[in-house]
Amino acid sequence: MRLSILQYGDPILRAKGKQIDKIDNRIRELAQNMLETMRAANGIGLAGQQVGEPLQLTVLDISQVEDRPSTMKLNGEDVDPKAAMPLVLINPLITLSEGSAVGTEGCLSFPEITGEIERAESVSVSAQTLENKTIEIEATGLLARALQHEADHLNGILFIDRMSSAAKASLSSRLKRLQKETKQGRVKDRQSLVGQSAL
Ligand code: ZN
Repeated sequence: MRLSILQYGDPILRAKGKQIDKIDNRIRELAQNMLETMRAANGIGLAGQQVGEPLQLTVLDISQVEDRPSTMKLNGEDVDPKAAMPLVLINPLITLSEGSAVGTEGCLSFPEITGEIERAESVSVSAQTLENKTIEIEATGLLARALQHEADHLNGILFIDRMSSAAKASLSSRLKRLQKETKQGRVKDRQSLVGQSAL
């Protein structure tokens, strides 16, 4: 089932996600619905907050992106990142970040807005899977960026918080308009507006 994606201005996007102690049918169903919702919006990542569920739960799938490479290790072994998708991560925690890289990001909660964001170049993340296994992911490239964008969402942090003040100032009137639209309950059709690679 496709869920509606909350947009900027909704207070749930600022909520810190609750730890998930028990992976039950409700969580499994939510994760499936989040994957479906993310794909329908051409996104590559989606956090619980974005569908109104402030939980430590995120889904990712970078396999459709051709022009922004990634590397991935799963539990210490090199894997093909595309073959490892989709990822459903429960209680993810960034345990190591190294280097820095600037890259373009969009967000499914910010239709039509993109920005250049500085992130760590590589990260290690530990998380649980839907099968209640603990996994360790080491990533670089687009996957590293996506993991950091989603980990931020789960803590109520948005990509505009990481923009330079000049970039944020230049978006200020668009952000205000978006907030106002959100408060008025006007949600846009993201399929036509967001485009590929938003998170
Ligand atoms: Zn986002």
